[in-house]
Amino acid sequence: MKLGTKIQLYTTVMTVIVVILINLVVYYSYKNFSLNAEMGQLENRGANIMEELQKANANNVSSEAVLQAFLLSDGYVKVIDNEGNPVVRIATESEYASLDEPYSTSQYKKTISHEGMEFVMVSLPVIWDDGQVYNLQIYENVYFLYDTFEVLKWILAVSTLIILTVIFLLNRIITNAILKPVNKLIDKMKKTDDTSKYTMIEMNRKDTKELRELSEAFNEMMMDLKTHDENQQAFIMNASHELKTPITVISSYSQMIKRFGKTREDVLDEGINAISDETERMKYLTEQLLSFAKVNREDETFQVEPIRIVKLIRNVTARLETVYGRRIELAFDNGEVLGLVDVDTFDQLIKIFLDNACKYSSDTISVNIRELENNVGVTIADKGIGIPEEDIGHIFTRFYRVDKARARETGGSGLGLSIAQELADLNDISIDVTSRVNVGTTFNLSIKKVKKNEETE
Ligand code: ADP
Repeated sequence: MKLGTKIQLYTTVMTVIVVILINLVVYYSYKNFSLNAEMGQLENRGANIMEELQKANANNVSSEAVLQAFLLSDGYVKVIDNEGNPVVRIATESEYASLDEPYSTSQYKKTISHEGMEFVMVSLPVIWDDGQVYNLQIYENVYFLYDTFEVLKWILAVSTLIILTVIFLLNRIITNAILKPVNKLIDKMKKTDDTSKYTMIEMNRKDTKELRELSEAFNEMMMDLKTHDENQQAFIMNASHELKTPITVISSYSQMIKRFGKTREDVLDEGINAISDETERMKYLTEQLLSFAKVNREDETFQVEPIRIVKLIRNVTARLETVYGRRIELAFDNGEVLGLVDVDTFDQLIKIFLDNACKYSSDTISVNIRELENNVGVTIADKGIGIPEEDIGHIFTRFYRVDKARARETGGSGLGLSIAQELADLNDISIDVTSRVNVGTTFNLSIKKVKKNEETE
């Protein structure tokens, strides 16, 4: 159901209930009030009759004559003895004679529905001229009041209908006015979806706060999507570009081998070496691309837990020392210090920094692990070629390499540090770099320390 229809339906139903309730209260209050007033008048009349009957008794005037004098324009006066037998009955209409209330010496008043007619009646005890206590009952036909009630009923019913129609129409106008900008917004959003372009929604000063917030949220989402899309495009372009060079080299060398390989041994050797190098490069590149894709994907096995940092790093350095045949010095102040990391991704992260240190230096590499108040500090320092100051800010950008020509020799892809940054973010680790050209580079990692460790020490 549309929001507008829903609002209209709810408000109309609520108004119907409220208006009907109010009208019922008005109708019944008026009816009650009118009948009570009429009964009050009848009581007064009864009191007068009692007074006159007393006087009549004193003056030896017939009680019946007094009653005749007090006859109603449309009603019935009856006096009954204690056995219910009528002593006097005076009615303006013969059919009233069937009105029959039991004998009672107490004074009361009530309304009576009798043969389709409506009456109000009062009952009083009276002392008759023979000295007996009888029951005087006065009935009054109140059809005129019921006529008024009927008219009131119609007035209320018609006014209810008019109110409802007006409210329904007003509701429609107001709902449309409120929802118009929302519908406009939906149209714009749909258009954006249809054209597959990242169209921003223009905001008007007249827009309500909610609408502006909705437009802002939509625009922000569009911007994010656009950036994401552009990044992806750039990534694909860079990756294809990176792969294009080795493929071109492989392709031209294979052409050369095809033509001269059988006759010239030197060409064959050169070709095979080049193809082997480039294949290695491509392998490295695809591996990097794969790990990049893996980092950006949600991994269910990822779990941050207290880990012995020294032990974990020692494993990585030992592995790399064998692979690269290089010396990596490891220093630490507390071998048991616990850091809060995910083992696999942290292992990968340390490997990237050590890989780079091996690639861009030839001297000893040193790794230092220090326990700080809230963190564990890990420093990976090399005495290599260093990074020029103007490049330091870019080295974490995907495919960024300081020296592209040399990177081909070292086999770099420019993806390592961007992967490292993502892994560090996942593990809540901050990275800091200091470097001087031809002196060396130091990467400082700050890892969350497990405080409990301090207590157990
Ligand atoms: P690559 O695969 O090219 O090494 P990275 O993203 O790991 O890509 O590094 C980006 C660039 O930062 C490298 O091309 C290199 O120029 C520079 N760099 C990274 N680590 C070091 C280091 N330890 N010493 C000198 N330069 C480094």
